[in-house]
Amino acid sequence: MYIYFNGAKKAYKEDTVAISTVNPATGEEIKTFEELTEGEIDEKIQRAFDTFLEYRKTPLAERSEMLLRAGEILEDEAEHFGSLMTSEMGKTLAAATAEAKKCARGCRYYAENAERFLADEEAELEGARAFVRYEPLGPVLAVMPWNFPFWQVFRFAAPALMAGNVGLLKHASNVPQCALAIEDIIHRAGFPEGAFQTLLIGSGQVQSVIDDPRVRAVTLTGSEGAGRSVGAEAGEQIKPSVLELGGSDPFIVMPSADLEKAVGSAVTSRTLNNGQSCINAKRIIVHEEIADEFQRRFVERMSSLKVGDPMGENTEMGPLATPQILEDVDSQVRKSVEAGARVLTGGKPMDGAGNFYPPTVITNIPEESPAYREEIFGPVASLFRARDIDDAIRLANDTTFGLGSSAWTNDAREQERFVNEIEAGMVYVNRMTESTPEIPFGGAKNSGYGRELSHYGIREFTNIKTVWIDESAEGAGMAAAE
Ligand code: NAP
Repeated sequence: MYIYFNGAKKAYKEDTVAISTVNPATGEEIKTFEELTEGEIDEKIQRAFDTFLEYRKTPLAERSEMLLRAGEILEDEAEHFGSLMTSEMGKTLAAATAEAKKCARGCRYYAENAERFLADEEAELEGARAFVRYEPLGPVLAVMPWNFPFWQVFRFAAPALMAGNVGLLKHASNVPQCALAIEDIIHRAGFPEGAFQTLLIGSGQVQSVIDDPRVRAVTLTGSEGAGRSVGAEAGEQIKPSVLELGGSDPFIVMPSADLEKAVGSAVTSRTLNNGQSCINAKRIIVHEEIADEFQRRFVERMSSLKVGDPMGENTEMGPLATPQILEDVDSQVRKSVEAGARVLTGGKPMDGAGNFYPPTVITNIPEESPAYREEIFGPVASLFRARDIDDAIRLANDTTFGLGSSAWTNDAREQERFVNEIEAGMVYVNRMTESTPEIPFGGAKNSGYGRELSHYGIREFTNIKTVWIDESAEGAGMAAAE
């Protein structure tokens, strides 16, 4: 059963869902898993806590060696991990293999840079010695989504482990084999068993794990509804939290842009990961001067994408991850069309087995329709026309979300306005939004708070400890007297 917040997506599941792998391309159930009992959860939390007390003392060089080893395993076995991801959530094998390699890059990045990011920082305090030291917090719970089943986890785990924290992973219920494979990689790399453990639990058990005093912080990547409930619980328990939530990213194209490049990127950005990425270009906003030509080329490219078996070498787009997502996307498009939107290509589920939905473009979108107000987590592009730059910025910001954004223009003044005026955690100019370890990733407004990646990401789960050492004779005496 689902409860809705402000008409938004599911917020709380009362019934725990089955933890199982169901092939999204065929509907065939491959493997199911028993949820952990309360006693087993308790044991794992205790193991995490005990491990943390020792692990926090491990020299950074040792942590770094283990993380580099994890990166090697990911690189060497990328194709195997790729086929696991594809069979559980349906992204193409090429994309999944690339994801495993990206995780290897993330591991290398933090293995090589963590020491610099966590070094003591001297404070400017006249006549005194004061500095900041970044200390680990303890066991951190990570509640993760299925859409990038490896990358989402490693972009949490690599910095968290380097900072001296230990991780407890509650992965999405449809990717249990990915969750167990990640745990195995981290153990094979040499990290102690308690440094990273998978909790095979449903979302209904997350609250009690957050409440456990041995768990010191929580990070969630997922929908707005899940973010509200995890953020509220973390607040109740006064524990730090990071929320990476949904988005409805604008992709704005102005007359001075390289049109061909913009069209190509819009197609890639909307259909990447079978249209199920938080930073897909979901709302394409085009200046009216070039809108007809953009629409013609965009619709042509979208409708010619090869959709099919995600294991196939030439497949460009696979199925949606679950029947529920297929139903949600179908219902959002149908309701938008009932409200007056027009379908330019696609627009209904494909026949046959599996959760296939075609690349779809809709336009003439009324303000009160789902395509205008909600995130559509499937390959559906909402196409808007803007009268001028003010109108484009107004449309871009007319959403409760604020994750990424992409603006295409070769006019320097327009670039500056987009950078300053778009309400989002990320603004990319003349390129599509993407994540890479070197730069921070995160949202504004209902897309969440906190940052992952770069030095910002590793410091999220640290205690920024202020140290002031009075080295004067009087000060030392006073301290002794007290
Ligand atoms: P979801 O339903 O919110 O699930 C994400 C995770 O949260 C799963 O592990 C899920 O467990 C758990 N969960 C769900 N409801 C919960 C609750 N009330 N309390 C505690 N845990 C809960 O999200 P999804 O539909 O799988 O993922 C898609 C969403 O994630 C989209 O909105 C997308 O934009 C967002 N996303 C954001 C980012 C980012 O970096 N900002 C990245 C990727 C995805 P179960 O599987 O057991 O339900």
